[in-house]
Amino acid sequence: MPADLDPAVREKLRRRLAFYEDIGLGEFYRDRAPSMSSRVWPQDPDATPGTEETPLPKPAPKSAPALAAAPSAKSPSPPRHAPPAPSLFEASEKISGETLPIVRADLGECTRCKLHTTRHKIVFGDGSAAAKLVFVGEGPGADEDAQGLPFVGRAGKLLTQMIEAMGLKREQVYICNVVKCRPPGNRPPEKDEVDACSPFLFRQLDVIRPQVIVCLGATAFQTLLQTNRSISHYRGDWLDYRGYKMMATYHPAYLLRNPAAKSEVWKDLQKVMAELGLEVKKKQAK
Ligand code: SF4
Repeated sequence: MPADLDPAVREKLRRRLAFYEDIGLGEFYRDRAPSMSSRVWPQDPDATPGTEETPLPKPAPKSAPALAAAPSAKSPSPPRHAPPAPSLFEASEKISGETLPIVRADLGECTRCKLHTTRHKIVFGDGSAAAKLVFVGEGPGADEDAQGLPFVGRAGKLLTQMIEAMGLKREQVYICNVVKCRPPGNRPPEKDEVDACSPFLFRQLDVIRPQVIVCLGATAFQTLLQTNRSISHYRGDWLDYRGYKMMATYHPAYLLRNPAAKSEVWKDLQKVMAELGLEVKKKQAK
């Protein structure tokens, strides 16, 4: 690193390089070809529907195992494999009329489950409504509860590093959780809480219509696939959630406790990158 580098930039760079080393990238480079982000990813989280450049195609029905169908969202489900539309976001607008602000307004100052009694802020979700990639976690922690934003604590910083390692910016994806209020003591959400809150997650996904959903941890995986099976049997495999391609992988909080698992998660994310047409970095550490 240059000796005159700003200390804050130097520290950020050091942490980034340590992260790459953790996930098995001993060396890497980016070529100077036009980046994917300038070609297919929304640059502005508030971008007007229809103004983005050529969208990536919707997922074709592939051989991913469909474990179960999740409950329907309130609005009618649009066809999942319709002919290419000018904009995925625009298409969902036309079919259902639903938007993220409408879903948020319906959630309101929610008291539908007991988690409302201990929360400080509802954590609805954050990112681009036109995102091709959505990360779904379990529920807010203390930092998220205080700020009203998902994944802003230590695990969130790690998730941001993972997103950036994929060649994306956090604002280009959408991040949300199964439950929107913090379970006390960071316990897993209970069934009645998931049942009360998950319809809003399903509606968020139906508005965004992402190309890929990444479930971070067992709660997201089990909620979307309506199963109580262990995530360990399905982690890293392509799954099907109502026609969306879905990948289940470890939660960043788990990675903080088990850094050795980062390389497994990176393999999963590389599959996601390939699916999305992002450049997969091939250089591996010895
Ligand atoms: Fe409402 Fe969801 Fe919060 Fe429960 S967790 S109070 S359902 S927003």
